[in-house]
Amino acid sequence: MNFHILTLFPEMVMQGLMTSITGRAVQQNKIGIEAVNIRDFTTDKHGKVDDYPYGGGAGMLMQAQPVYDACRSVLDRLPVSGIRRVIYVTPQGTPFTQKKAQELAKCDDLLILCGHYEGIDERVLEEVVTDYISIGDYVLTGGELAAMVIVDAVARLVPEVLNNEQSAETESFHGNLLEYPQYSRPEIWHDRAVPPVLLSGNQKEIGIWRKGQAVKRTKERRPDLYQRYETLEKCKNFLMRQKLLHIDMIECINRCRAEVIYWDGKELLLREQKSGVFFHTRENVMDLPAKPEEWKVGKMLVKEQKRGRICLVVHQEQMIPYVEQLLSLQVSVSCYQAVCTRKEKLPVRGLYRPDTMETVSGYVIKPLDMELLPQVVSNYDGDLSKEYFQNRIAEGQMKGVFCDGSMAGFIGQHDEGSIGMLQILPEHRGKKLAQVLETVMVNEALERGEIPYAQIRVENKASLSLQEKLGLCISKAPVYWMESV
Ligand code: SAM
Repeated sequence: MNFHILTLFPEMVMQGLMTSITGRAVQQNKIGIEAVNIRDFTTDKHGKVDDYPYGGGAGMLMQAQPVYDACRSVLDRLPVSGIRRVIYVTPQGTPFTQKKAQELAKCDDLLILCGHYEGIDERVLEEVVTDYISIGDYVLTGGELAAMVIVDAVARLVPEVLNNEQSAETESFHGNLLEYPQYSRPEIWHDRAVPPVLLSGNQKEIGIWRKGQAVKRTKERRPDLYQRYETLEKCKNFLMRQKLLHIDMIECINRCRAEVIYWDGKELLLREQKSGVFFHTRENVMDLPAKPEEWKVGKMLVKEQKRGRICLVVHQEQMIPYVEQLLSLQVSVSCYQAVCTRKEKLPVRGLYRPDTMETVSGYVIKPLDMELLPQVVSNYDGDLSKEYFQNRIAEGQMKGVFCDGSMAGFIGQHDEGSIGMLQILPEHRGKKLAQVLETVMVNEALERGEIPYAQIRVENKASLSLQEKLGLCISKAPVYWMESV
């Protein structure tokens, strides 16, 4: 990932960012950081970049021309296929949050435009900026410190920038909770002892204590965050009454990717933030209003639909006619949920060696790279697009089995979190490769602390029996993916 900071003070940002963790990440080529001097792009022969604002008022304004040319000089040399954003840091922007940092960490290139004086001519902002971000409700003299805050928070989420990737996973804001208190040596300092549980060596007890402290601390210090946490806990308890059926929604919450759109204690609509997919469930389908247009959640979805195409997963068959009539969506696929309900990893004996990632039949398991995209697309017998697979591979979510360097099969994790896309090429079948690949995916998900699950088309008897063979539990009823045709 590359950061391009457009500024009148390049040395200020480079001095700050080239030290410590971000500096080391640049040296190790994990990220790239450049500062582009806006002044280098002015066409004014005296090097001027600012002028008086029309209509009068205090201070000077950065002019459109040098800002625009500086932005273009970066944009024009970026690969067309990359994901990029142009951020203007401004007190008028949306407040910067950990969630926003996570979103930005998925980009290939981030351009951050720093204002100075009274700001920047509005016209150039309208032309180039994709995101307006504020780092807080106060006014700085320039955007450089704000840019540095954003680079720091985003860079540490880029894989391998932190030594221990886990540390970004357990920190404040993860799951709407602040982090628990931490202690280091000595055991007693100023008569204050480290909480005994942390010295017990009992990881389970330590985990429970830390979670309790995180909840307590969030409640005391950030009631707003705590309220969100509490709502999601209530939703989760509701969903757990039918764990297998609702595993997609439960995991959406567990993986901190759920946005609650509607919740009244009996009916829940979530949006999975990464894929944008909506998930709906309702306790009682007997008390639905007679007319679909009176269905409250449906009316909310109609509004969402006005902003763009939507995809909705319903968990009760009785919802289908309502969705069809109100939203004109059709069932594209009906799937059972196959859930790994155990916490211990699946056995690998007779399948593969986790240290070498070699199967007993001599195949090698490894992540797929982009060169294999055409082969994946042509061999997959479902209806997923090339762009979809491209994105899955780019995000490191696909794995394959290889024999003498050629691909014999693949599997992946879908955008919204389920394991799927399993395909074994005909000439390599009968070698337990499907079992191998799914076991790898399930065990990796367990290592991340997730509940692994797959969604299996109701008509795919072979896959359903594979899931049962692996020890996964199958939901009694299916869920229905509804999309516009
Ligand atoms: N006149 C501007 C206004 O009232 O919105 C404030 C301009 S400020 C003095 C100069 C520059 O500092 C801005 O263009 C912006 O890039 C940056 N800046 C100031 N406060 C900021 C904040 N809270 N978050 C992000 N950037 C900020």
